[in-house]
Parts: sequence; C-alpha cells; structure tokens
Amino acid sequence: MKQAIGFSNRSEPAPAPAVPVPSAAAAPVRCLAEVHFPSVDTTFPYSNDLFELKPGDAVFVSGKFAGKLGFVTSVTTRFKIDLAYYKKVVAKPEFRFSGSFNPVLSMILSPGSAALPDAATFKSWVQPPKDGDGEEINQIVVGDGFAFDLDDFEQDDEVDEAKVERALEYCREGRVRYLSLQNGVGTAFVEGSVWYEVNFRYVEGQVWDMYCDCPCPGLCKHDIAVLIVLRALLQQPELFGESDFTAVDQSFFSKIVSMNRQSVVLQ
Ligand SMILES: [Zn+2]
Repeated sequence: MKQAIGFSNRSEPAPAPAVPVPSAAAAPVRCLAEVHFPSVDTTFPYSNDLFELKPGDAVFVSGKFAGKLGFVTSVTTRFKIDLAYYKKVVAKPEFRFSGSFNPVLSMILSPGSAALPDAATFKSWVQPPKDGDGEEINQIVVGDGFAFDLDDFEQDDEVDEAKVERALEYCREGRVRYLSLQNGVGTAFVEGSVWYEVNFRYVEGQVWDMYCDCPCPGLCKHDIAVLIVLRALLQQPELFGESDFTAVDQSFFSKIVSMNRQSVVLQ
C-alpha cells in the first residue's frame, strides 16, 4: 500500500500541520536558548549566533551533550553572559520528508531520485558537526581492492562466516538505518555503538570503492550489513527495476517523526 509519508495508518493523532522551513537566508539571531535533551531529561542554556531559533526547534550543541538531540524550550534575546561559561548551539537539523514511501522489509522505501531525506539531511540528524577547532583532520586513503559482484560478495576473500553472521545480526536488528543509491553512488548510515557512514559505488551488479568510517581497515561488518540490505532492496518489486532509491528504517523514522512533531516538514 502506498502512503504519503508522515500520514500514518495507525490510530495515533495526525502529525501537527507542517511549519514553513525558515529560508536559508533567514538571519541568525543572537540569543540564549534553553535546550531540553529528552534522552537524559535535562535542560541547559546555550548561546547561539548561528541560527534563527524558536521553541520546538531540534538542535545539536557543543560540550557535554554534544551529539545528543535537544529541543529548544525557550529563547531570549535579553541577556548578558560571559561566553567562557556557555557552550553553543552548533547545528539545527531540519526534518524534511517528501516522496512516497512503501513499507518493505523493516524499511520504508522510496523509488527514484526525488525523495527526502537525502543522505546529507539524514547525516545532519545522526552525525552532527564535531565540537572543536577542526585541528584533527582525518586523512582517509581507500585502496582499489574492494570490488565484487553484489550477488556473490560472500565469495570475497575478506568475507568470512563470522563477519557475515555479525552483519546478519545487524540486519535483523534493523541497524542499517538509512540507505540510498543515486546515480550509482551509495550512502548508508549504520547504528552501532556510534553512527557509521558507509559509502560505495554500485552499477549493474558491481560494487566497488566501499568504505566505512569505522576504525576497521578492511571490509567490516557494517559494509557487509549494507551489502545484504542493498541486495534485498534491489530485489523488491516496489523499485520497478529502478536502481535509484532511498530507504529509511521504519522504527527509526517513526521515532524521528514523533520526537519532532513541531519541526517535521512534509513536502
Ligand atoms: Zn565499519
């Protein structure tokens, strides 16, 4: 069954009406924002001079709660603070969805190229910019060795049974939360102890340049989990033979929508 995203067929109340996306040109307003972090049920004030903020906005901050999604509870422009004592709002992810998605396996799948969230949007939800001065620049080098047939990647020398078993466990737990393939460029986000990004290229049954940003130097369980999900999704009749698609884990998607009722924008 096709359903427009965000309009659930369950008996929950309908999501709040879409709020307009602030235009990219909206000037940031220097303010002090109270931010609540649901995962630790704590609220702290943060300084902000990068974004236009209003109550209900989802944000990421620097400091102790870096990487935890927080929600602005109040904003004031009448303040005077010593910046040395305040951490900052560092990112304001926008929760935009569009396209029609079909429930497939444990994911929702949108064929074609127009769906949101795109990989950059999804990344902004789960891998916020790191706090710091950017002094640590990772230099990643990818060898040419990773090229295989999607249909029988299990034959690759680096793929052993133990890795496949761990990857299958990841798949059963729905940890491949996001997978998109656009013009032969694949991007996936896998939730392990932290979030990992997997990039690869795929054309007509061949996968190459596969790279996961976890510390493992070779083909890792995240890579293999992505290959398993990719192979399963490409076989779905909902794709009508198209190879471009966007897929998001259904339970993760529901969580994002319910946590962000005020911020979600349906297009
Ligand atoms: Zn990995």
